Amino acid sequence: MSNKIIRLLKEKKLTTYILKANNKMKVQLHVSHKPHISHKIGDVSTQESRALIDILEREDLFEKVVFGNTVACPYCESIDLVINIRCPKCRSLEVEREFVLEHAKCGMVFPAKNLKIFNCPRCGRDIKPDKELRIIGSIFRCPSCGTSFESPDIDLHCNTCDKDFSIREAEIKKIYTYQFREKAEEILDLLYVYSRIYSEIEKLGVKVYLPGTINGESGVKHEFPLVLRAGNDKCLIIDLGGLVSSIDLDGLIRDYIKILDTPQCRYLYVAKDENVNPEIQIPSKLKDYISLIIVKDIDEAIDKVKEYINNLIGEKKR
Ligand SMILES: [Zn+2]
Ligand SMILES: [Zn+2]
Ligand SMILES: [Zn+2]
Repeated sequence: MSNKIIRLLKEKKLTTYILKANNKMKVQLHVSHKPHISHKIGDVSTQESRALIDILEREDLFEKVVFGNTVACPYCESIDLVINIRCPKCRSLEVEREFVLEHAKCGMVFPAKNLKIFNCPRCGRDIKPDKELRIIGSIFRCPSCGTSFESPDIDLHCNTCDKDFSIREAEIKKIYTYQFREKAEEILDLLYVYSRIYSEIEKLGVKVYLPGTINGESGVKHEFPLVLRAGNDKCLIIDLGGLVSSIDLDGLIRDYIKILDTPQCRYLYVAKDENVNPEIQIPSKLKDYISLIIVKDIDEAIDKVKEYINNLIGEKKR
């Protein structure tokens, strides 16, 4: 006995614990599956991803889709549950399952407690369990009362609120994920194009806003996706919509009033050649304010926009 005590006392971790503990040592079982549903976008944190999803959902670019469902606690909705398999007759937890398996190569049938079988007990050949074993049946057995049954009772314990309930009482919780709506693609493409050109313009050392506000002559404030200011008197509105979709007359007409109300600005319209419909003419009244740049791709757009801005700044200096 004293030898044992000495051996135990030599165990520093144990001694430290006993010196600190004021109660008798007792093991508390804690089983946690730690299920946690969250969504992530790229490298940003789940919290930031959540904020992004909320924006995209609000703007109707994302749609919620059911990914699957799970059982949750009916009292607190937690999905951190322990699943207990019980005998339906005597409620014992000592439930065992037995499979009836067939070895595909020899056709023999045999019972097994699990599927980790690498040798056929009948013909002795090697088995690849996932490929050569066929499950013919499975049965549960209770060693406590000797009953066999096809499906056990499933009881659940909530790790969050500590309550117990059966699978019949459990709540079914849907797990959602998000996917972009079809129309979202074009909008996202455009956002990327704007941000790319914005960062390129920023390198030129001019004031650039994404988005920007301009005071109209009428006193109304107008917002544009990309606005550049050179000095106090000059501004440039850059419209990149034509890089991802065809220039539409509706859009031009909508912008018409805003453009006329902001004559202090040049309005630069950048479009891909394939998106320019030759039938759509810029209204002649607007021609004084609008410059149209037609490009093959985004790289050319960046070059041409930079060139345009450099000319604009140079013009000012002269
Ligand atoms: Zn039983
Ligand atoms: Zn066999
Ligand atoms: Zn609960």
